[in-house]
Amino acid sequence: MTARAVCFIDLDALAHNLAEVQRIVGPKVRVCGVVKANAYGHGAVPVARTLLRGGAGALAVACFEEAEELRTAGLAVPILILGGIDAELAADAVRLGLTPVVWDAEALREIASAVPSGRRLQIHLKVDTGMHRLGAAPSALEELIRTATELSVEVDGVLSHLACADEPENASVAAQLAEFEEALALAEEVGLRPRIRHLAASAGLLADARTHFDMVRAGLVLYGCLPHASFADRVTLRPVMELRTHVVQVKTIPPGDAVGYGFTWRAERQTRLAVLPIGYGQGYPRALSNRAHVAIGEATAPVVGTISMDHVTVDVTDVPDVEPGTEVVLWGGTGPDVMQLGKSAGTIGYELLSRVAHGVPRVYRGG
Ligand SMILES: *Cc1c(COP(=O)(O)O)cnc(C)c1O
Repeated sequence: MTARAVCFIDLDALAHNLAEVQRIVGPKVRVCGVVKANAYGHGAVPVARTLLRGGAGALAVACFEEAEELRTAGLAVPILILGGIDAELAADAVRLGLTPVVWDAEALREIASAVPSGRRLQIHLKVDTGMHRLGAAPSALEELIRTATELSVEVDGVLSHLACADEPENASVAAQLAEFEEALALAEEVGLRPRIRHLAASAGLLADARTHFDMVRAGLVLYGCLPHASFADRVTLRPVMELRTHVVQVKTIPPGDAVGYGFTWRAERQTRLAVLPIGYGQGYPRALSNRAHVAIGEATAPVVGTISMDHVTVDVTDVPDVEPGTEVVLWGGTGPDVMQLGKSAGTIGYELLSRVAHGVPRVYRGG
C-alpha cells in the first residue's frame, strides 16, 4: 500500500541553505541550527546530522526531550535548550552536556543545587530586550550574573530574541539591539564576558548585520523559507520540504452541484473533481478550504469545498490526464510556496511545516 501522503525532505537543499546563511554572516559568525519541533516538521535527527556535516556550530531545541533525542542519536555538538530546564533535569542535562537557557536567579539556584558535585553546569543567560517572552528584565540581569558567578556556573553565552525583525523598517529592531548592547555592557561591568553573544534568528540575520554578534540562530531560512518577501534579493533559498499526495478518485459533477461538508463550493460548469487522501488530520489546514491550489504536473488545481479530516477535493476540469494514482504536490517542489499558503490560511508557514502529522512518512534525499 502506498502512503496517503509523503513528505520528501531534500537534505542537499538544506545544506545549500546553511551555506547561504554562512555566506551572509561571514566565516567568523557561527550558525546555530534551530531544530525544535522535530526540525520544523522535517525530522530532527537527519536534519541535525546534515547541518553538522555542513558546518553548523551548534543546535537549538525547545526542551530537554528534544535535546536528549539528538544526543542519543550520537550528535556531538553544543545543544542549546531555548526553553530552559526544570531543576529535576539538571543532573541529566549536565551528564548529556546540554546547555540550558536561564533567565531567573531563583531558578538558577535550584538548577545549580541539583547538579552533582564535581560537575559543572554550562548555561546561556537570556535577557528580555522588549519582546517580553522569555528573558530576564535588564534590571534583573546583574543579580542573575552575580548568582551564576557565586554558584560557579559557566555562563558561556548571553542571548536575546527579536520580536519584529521580519517587518522591514520596524523601529523596534534598533531599540532591541540597543537594549541588548546595553545588557552586554552591564554584564562586562559585572565581570562577565560571554564567549557567545547571540540575538538574531532568520529574519534578523537577513535584515541587519549588526544583529549577528558571535552566532545566529537560524531556523526558517535553513528550511528554505523567506521570513519576508523583501529579503528575496539577499539570499537564494531552496525549499527543503515537499508535501505530496496522489489522487484516489476522479468524478464529474453537473453545474449547480456542490462539494464537501456545508456545501461551501458550488460548480458553475460541468466540473471534474479529484479527491485527495489528505486533510487537516495529516496537517493540511482546514483554513485553506477554497483558498489554495495544488500542483499536478505542470498545471495547478484549486481546492474546492471544505477540507475534511482525511480528504480534500480539487477542481481538475482544466488539468489533463488526471486519474487515480496521479501525483499531486501540496507545497514545496513544483507546488505552492508554504509561506504563501500560510498567509492564505491566516497563519504563517512555520505552523504548516511543523504541523505535518507524525504519521506522514518523511523520505530523505541527498545529504
Ligand atoms: C524558534 C526560534 C529561533 C529560530 O527562528 P527562525 O525565525 O525560524 O529562524 C531562534 N531563536 C529562538 C529563541 C527561537 O525560539
